[in-house]
Amino acid sequence: MSYDVNIARVVKKYGQFKAVDGVSVGIKKGELFTLLGPSGCGKTTLLRMIAGFNSIDEGEISFDQTVINDIPAHKRNIGMVFQNYAIFPHMSVFENVAYGLKARKLGSAEIAKRVEEALDLVQIGNFRDRQPAQLSGGQQQRVALARAVVIHPGILLMDEPLSNLDAKLRIQMRSVIKKLQRSLNITTIYVTHDQEEALAISDRIAVMRNGRIEQLDGPQQIYEQPANAFVAGFIGTSNFLAATLLRQDSAQGAEVLIAGKKKLVLPLKRPVGKEAVVSVRPEALELGEPAADELNGEIILATFLGDYINYEVALDNGQSIEVNEFAKETLRVREAGEKVAVRFQPAKIHLFEGT
Ligand code: ADP
Ligand code: MG
Repeated sequence: MSYDVNIARVVKKYGQFKAVDGVSVGIKKGELFTLLGPSGCGKTTLLRMIAGFNSIDEGEISFDQTVINDIPAHKRNIGMVFQNYAIFPHMSVFENVAYGLKARKLGSAEIAKRVEEALDLVQIGNFRDRQPAQLSGGQQQRVALARAVVIHPGILLMDEPLSNLDAKLRIQMRSVIKKLQRSLNITTIYVTHDQEEALAISDRIAVMRNGRIEQLDGPQQIYEQPANAFVAGFIGTSNFLAATLLRQDSAQGAEVLIAGKKKLVLPLKRPVGKEAVVSVRPEALELGEPAADELNGEIILATFLGDYINYEVALDNGQSIEVNEFAKETLRVREAGEKVAVRFQPAKIHLFEGT
């Protein structure tokens, strides 16, 4: 049976430095929950506190209402998968997966049954008698996954499990993990610095920076409604433009001057000062004919990418921005040097406090 996990005001200190700085979050039973953030933001430290490999300096972690701060790692009923596969090189695939069950003193018939089930779940039943040296990186990581779930843990913890695989395999393994997680309906906490992987795999994502959670939401909300400029810049590609607040009529709307040139009225979702910033994704911009009141510029580079063209555009103020034009009927690739106006869809612009 899967646990829910409650993390309340958790802190981890190394000397004066807080690697995890007051994190609170509830993870639901059966959820695939991701900790996403740049290297050094505290993901592994937090995961290791959940696993019991790091002590908890402040706050509490509970599994199903039971505080586990003082319960040792081996009694937390956790399955773990690491970046480096950490399977035993001198044991066959079967023996690797059986190891945790033997340690728990299960009978050999029960062990055989559960190992076969776990190997089938990750689609490596045919490799049961191989040695790790005879397996590819992806197959070794499937063994590590089977070994983590065969003990029927209450939570599955994964720390950058795909980082050592090549790009194509990394994408294939996302669906292996997602299907495994779904079929077992197991509460899973997944750590990655790869924003695309997080979007692809997660039910919810906590975006972390400097030991704190910056935003906690579903993948689509994180992408479409970033809570601040950091999240907008870390997830996907965003252009940032200076925005001066001209008028703020109500809590609902603000008139802003973008890049010193273009006036727009934007919804005001959070308070900002007079000097603010807007973020807008390349696909939320359009190119048109230059005009007096528009943000005009010049194509610097056009990159044809099949179903869209990516343009680097130098605005008249010198700032360079990215625009993606998607195929409608046929795409005309604009030439470098062509003069254009960059137009916005106001609903897809986000106004943030200036940094
Ligand atoms: P992430 O997994 O997000 O890359 P970590 O959790 O590994 O980040 O590390 C968070 C911060 O804590 C980093 O600044 C790292 O240098 C620091 N840190 C991690 N482990 C230790 C340790 N044992 N001693 C001192 N500092 C540490
Ligand atoms: Mg890490």
